[in-house]
Amino acid sequence: MSDFIPPGSTVGVLGSGQLGRMFAIAARRMGYRVHTLSPDYDTPTGQVADREIQAAYDDLDAVRAFARGVAVVTFEFENVSAAAAEAAAEHAPVRPAGSVLHTTQNRLREKGFLAGAGFPVAPYATVRSLDDLTAGLADLGAPAVLKTAGWGYDGKGQVKIATPAEAAAAWEAVGGQECVLEAFVDFEREVSVVGARGLDGSFAHFGVIENRHSRHILDVSIAPAAVPPSIEKEAVAIARGILEELGVVGVLCVEMFLTRDGRLLVNELAPRPHNSGHLTFDACVTSQFEQQLRAITGLALGSTDLLRPAAMANLLGDLWADGEPDWAAACRFPEVKLHLYGKAAARPGRKMGHLTALAGTPEEALERVVAARAAARASMPGRRPALSSL
Ligand code: AMP
Repeated sequence: MSDFIPPGSTVGVLGSGQLGRMFAIAARRMGYRVHTLSPDYDTPTGQVADREIQAAYDDLDAVRAFARGVAVVTFEFENVSAAAAEAAAEHAPVRPAGSVLHTTQNRLREKGFLAGAGFPVAPYATVRSLDDLTAGLADLGAPAVLKTAGWGYDGKGQVKIATPAEAAAAWEAVGGQECVLEAFVDFEREVSVVGARGLDGSFAHFGVIENRHSRHILDVSIAPAAVPPSIEKEAVAIARGILEELGVVGVLCVEMFLTRDGRLLVNELAPRPHNSGHLTFDACVTSQFEQQLRAITGLALGSTDLLRPAAMANLLGDLWADGEPDWAAACRFPEVKLHLYGKAAARPGRKMGHLTALAGTPEEALERVVAARAAARASMPGRRPALSSL
């Protein structure tokens, strides 16, 4: 039996946000049909999918019915339960497999996997009580970062602990949940490698991308990252090792810290396309979304060549504070591409869209994308000019 799922077939996405939307755009361009399932309606993915199914992820009958209607199931939301992934797998291949989700959706399991397989991580301790936290702080020292084991992303469920005296308050702030305590990393920069692994075990990557955060949320990404070739080689080798060790079929992003003394430490895994890879949509021969499609349908992986240096700036809901941003002003930059996700309500911190700029150098691309975002924010008639977040 061939594993190849040809164009014309239907692919299913669990989750309905912007990652699914960009995946669906790539899939439809290549002649696939797309179904999406999530608890919401009129979603970023649903707006471009052939079919939008509204159901809870733990409605296993709905998940089974969804899987019966597609040739392969993938996801863009990694907190789908193991039970839902198993229910889907009764009727269609799930790629990456539920076991990959299971490992990566809990920080303790993820850290245990990484450390156990010999990948470099910051020193950490398991915390299930205030006593564990006190002992962990004595061991690792302060400052340290306490992160809930489950349901964490974009800095949610995270507390920085500056001194051991703050332990009780931090434990209360995370609601006394199972946590991982990490030594605070004095990093020079944050980088990521988005990797893809095909059904045949082939591997492709988009190089090293630099990521700058603001209030724990990704603000801008820059490609290629300004790191020495030896670091690039090591970062890619780490990513490849992780995809292979986990047996990923699909896309997985490895977020890493580059320390001031030149070491790479893995911070987090995302078993799907990642915000830092959004620039691949406009800047690479094959985007991370097309690569996800190619991997899960058994097509050969595409070229990841970067056409030109690029930078991406997120458009968070904060940009809407004084009304709709001025998209015409942003589009006056001819080498800037506008992506909006079709979300109706702009809340602070909510990812509403992004801009990508191409240029001759990564620095120019960054300047250009930040200028375009500032133009969108500042130039509405009657608006006060706002400072860029950079
Ligand atoms: P995370 O949700 O784990 O990706 O964390 C969000 C952001 O918080 C990271 O991208 C870093 O900027 C910061 N951060 C997380 N963990 C640490 C750490 N152990 N040391 C220093 N900064 C951290």
